[in-house]
Amino acid sequence: MTQTTRIGTASHLGHALSERRRTVERVAEARLPTEMGEFRLIGYRSKTSNEEFVVIAKGRFRAERPTLARIHSQCLTGDVFGSTKCDCGQQLKTAMRLIAAEKSGAIVYQQQEGRGIGIINKIRAYALQDKGADTIEANEQLGLPVDLRRYEQCAEILADLGLRRIKLMSNNPKKFEAVERFGLEIVESVPLPVNFHKTLVRYLKTKRDQMGHLINIPEEIYEQTRSCVVQTV
Ligand SMILES: [Zn+2]
Repeated sequence: MTQTTRIGTASHLGHALSERRRTVERVAEARLPTEMGEFRLIGYRSKTSNEEFVVIAKGRFRAERPTLARIHSQCLTGDVFGSTKCDCGQQLKTAMRLIAAEKSGAIVYQQQEGRGIGIINKIRAYALQDKGADTIEANEQLGLPVDLRRYEQCAEILADLGLRRIKLMSNNPKKFEAVERFGLEIVESVPLPVNFHKTLVRYLKTKRDQMGHLINIPEEIYEQTRSCVVQTV
């Protein structure tokens, strides 16, 4: 992910941050014990909209130390209900496990449900997917954008937390671009492996082929699930 032009190095960023107009503010912080150990829970508010962000973090951050980080977009169905239509829940839990194992890292939880269209529209899109549309076609049939998410403020939050050198847990090129554009250095891309549920493969294939996500779907997995994929069309 080094093809993106960087506007500054990690060492320059501290100074740049103090001069740059802040668009988020840290407003609350507490401890959060979880099944994966204790984390810090930090609340941010946007100064330019009514958006709120939640960070789950562990450890003390030092600018020079490469640190695990993820920008996670809220997915009620995947994160809470364990949906196998998408890989969100699996990615969130795997990211938390990796951070717990390293005793250091942060996840910015961005509350943009359904790639920004909201939960009700997401259910409407799922209904169209039940009839055969893929994740992009469903949004288009509803007259909604495919992806409304923006990540600039998430990158700002990572910087505000004190992270400068990032081991980014993502396969979404837009998140890499946002982090690098903000001036943070991505020193490593950390893949989050997912289990290939039958209902997940078509969604991942659409994200890979039409949205540019860096997802490796083993050919034999796709072949195994082809009957299921055909069935839903
Ligand atoms: Zn999801």
